[in-house]
Amino acid sequence: MVTLKEALSLDEAQLKDIKKEIQAKAEQSKLNAYIGKIEASRDTGIPILIKDNINVRGWEITCGSKILQGYIAPYNASVIERLHHNGMCGFGRGNMDEFAMGSTSANSAYGPTLNPCDISRVPGGSSGGSAAAVAGGLAIAALGSDTGGSIRQPAGFCGCVGLKPTYGRVSRYGLVAYSSSLDQIGPIAQNVEDTAILFDAISGECSFDSTSAKQAPTQTASKLDATKRFKIAVLRDFLKDATQDIQDAYEHTISVLKEMGHEIVEKQMLATNYHIGAYYIICTAEASSNLARFDGVRYAHRAQDIQNLQELYIKTRSEGFGAEVKRRILLGNFVLNSGSYEAYYLKAQKVRKLIKEQYDNIFADADLILCPIAPSVAPKFGSTKTALEMYLSDIYTISVNLAGLPAISLPVGLGENDLPIGMQIIGKSFDEQSVLDAAYGLEQKIGQIGVRK
Ligand code: GLN
Repeated sequence: MVTLKEALSLDEAQLKDIKKEIQAKAEQSKLNAYIGKIEASRDTGIPILIKDNINVRGWEITCGSKILQGYIAPYNASVIERLHHNGMCGFGRGNMDEFAMGSTSANSAYGPTLNPCDISRVPGGSSGGSAAAVAGGLAIAALGSDTGGSIRQPAGFCGCVGLKPTYGRVSRYGLVAYSSSLDQIGPIAQNVEDTAILFDAISGECSFDSTSAKQAPTQTASKLDATKRFKIAVLRDFLKDATQDIQDAYEHTISVLKEMGHEIVEKQMLATNYHIGAYYIICTAEASSNLARFDGVRYAHRAQDIQNLQELYIKTRSEGFGAEVKRRILLGNFVLNSGSYEAYYLKAQKVRKLIKEQYDNIFADADLILCPIAPSVAPKFGSTKTALEMYLSDIYTISVNLAGLPAISLPVGLGENDLPIGMQIIGKSFDEQSVLDAAYGLEQKIGQIGVRK
């Protein structure tokens, strides 16, 4: 598949051929990365795969859920308008965990997406369709969303690159909200440079999003510099929860960074079990509130044979939502009820503040932080038995969202069974440039893992 950089110099006739190629490949593919028939958001432009929770005018948008099947988006998300403005277009829907809740992409009403590196394994989630398509040679690049790792972790599991931008850097207008204080749209691409190009195309202030930062669109791609040297913090205490191959890859990455001339400093952070507790209280609380709108009155699915309003709500939601979404709505309502609000929700907000302060302290003495993406390589389908086990696999990614920071995930080598291992480089708020520069240099040094055909 051509890279985004290469696609920028193609004319419309050549792009048309590439769209045909994508369509043909997607139809033959067993990965289940695309949902339904491929549509284009407009006739011209470089095709970009769009996760199923981003509104594209005239397309069905379902967030991988039965409850929204048949709902047609009446408007474009701001990122889609920005793609159009920058010579790109939406092209096809990426499969995902229902309402972006999950780490495997197996919680989808359309069935699981498979990992292109080994189809018996999960591609990660929730943006598994986006990452599997890019790594599997079925898309030039894709948009995903990251609430607690959903761009970085699937990119890591499939062997491609993903960027979670600073909170507020990319407009959330038109992204179906999961947890509004954590959600952020970002790019998934074949390499760091393409990631920067797509990030520049979607970033910038948006008057339709009240949390949007008052900053112009970024221009990171033209400024990419692999020769920059940084002070990089490492968090070795975190590693005890990771498998040996992840630990080895971490140490190897550190030695490569040192050899390149980066300065390495050891730092510590609050144990990851507190991150999990705070994240799953805050995200479920916000989700229970955001998902209250799917009530059978306004959107898509409506239960039949209804006697009264309460029955309409109950039946519609019981039929429409999958098990994981129901679990989170229950948990969210529980932590918000008057008896437990102080004990759980307020305490979680305090832990969130503490995590933010700890990042500030580390960044007072370092430019960047190196951290694994996940405690293991992509697991096999069915190997994660309980919801809690799945939540625990998010230990390395969720604090970045709690603190609103930018972070990139890039492949650094192969682990168990030759599966890709991703590491993340976390930066200061709005310093995506340093994050991308360091990743660009590291990518050149380590060499990309080949995109699998
Ligand atoms: N796995 C995390 C969760 O299930 C993160 C998901 C995401 O970033 N959307 O909440």
